[in-house]
Amino acid sequence: MTPTKSAGAGYTLGVDLGGTNVRVGAYSRQAEKLHAMSFPTRLFDGPLPALNEIAAAVKKVRDQCAEHGDCAGVGIGSPGPIELPAGILSDPANLPGWAGLELKTELEKLVALPVTVDSDANAAALAEWRLGSGRKFQVQSMAMFTLGTGVGGGLILDGKLWHGDKGLAAEPGHTVVVPNGIACNCGSHGCLEKYASASAVSRMARELASQPGWEFLLGMADAQGLIKASVVAQLALSGKAEALAIFEQVGETLGRMLAAWVSTLNLPLYTLGGGMALCWDQFAPAMFRALRDCSQTYRLTAPTNTEVFEAGKTNVLPAQLGAEAGLIGAALLVDQLCFFSKTR
Ligand SMILES: [Zn+2]
Repeated sequence: MTPTKSAGAGYTLGVDLGGTNVRVGAYSRQAEKLHAMSFPTRLFDGPLPALNEIAAAVKKVRDQCAEHGDCAGVGIGSPGPIELPAGILSDPANLPGWAGLELKTELEKLVALPVTVDSDANAAALAEWRLGSGRKFQVQSMAMFTLGTGVGGGLILDGKLWHGDKGLAAEPGHTVVVPNGIACNCGSHGCLEKYASASAVSRMARELASQPGWEFLLGMADAQGLIKASVVAQLALSGKAEALAIFEQVGETLGRMLAAWVSTLNLPLYTLGGGMALCWDQFAPAMFRALRDCSQTYRLTAPTNTEVFEAGKTNVLPAQLGAEAGLIGAALLVDQLCFFSKTR
């Protein structure tokens, strides 16, 4: 049985479940951080030992928050896709062996609190709307895209997260943007994730490193052998045409994806966050070019200056909250109103 919310509770807990790390944070109802901790995600013994570690962290953070009153519940942002509101994981690429996990039910058993599950990208979008650019620009509807290892999305319509019928709405990562393009582990070819994520930039950089004169790139890889997007961005900044071409590909494919969203939704604001968004200056020119080429709605509503918010226009801007958006958003999930499409 689902535990009930305690009335008048003083704070909520967020869990940001990533393929590398788990972050747990307590936030007041005014979204002030009270306590937080993080630890590596236990990946290789199946989900239950990892959930036990999360439950232990939740208890630890609650112990530290005793002075702040009752905990109203736990929100968890997880790699998608997830069936909602049941909170059942499909087969997240970053959590091998977790397919079919009833995350909400299992975690509720362990923490004895109501648990709200959503995708990590939806949680980040909620935080960006409530506390970042959504609040700053006073919009009731917006979308946020998270450019990290993959490409996630979240859609806020009239102040609520839009989930669609099964919780699978607003997922741009596995939309084909290059017909007959690179094979993706989802089964399609040419998905956005294969061109516009941090992993995609690393892959393109590795391909570049195999060309004569570019072998030095391998020496710039991190301990895991990844050539980070920030390294490629530096090269692009110094005018290296081959590095700029990588970001042209990122921008072009993002622009094509955005064009479909802009023409379908006509929202006032689309923001891009996640680590890759730091390379905005490198990919934005190609992104706006493709967006303009592919969407009449954008051509009719484009701002005169794409660097600032213009009311009444279609604004595409970097997200404002940074790396903590997913964790704050998870804590905000507890009190969030959600849309699920309903059969009449
Ligand atoms: Zn795919």
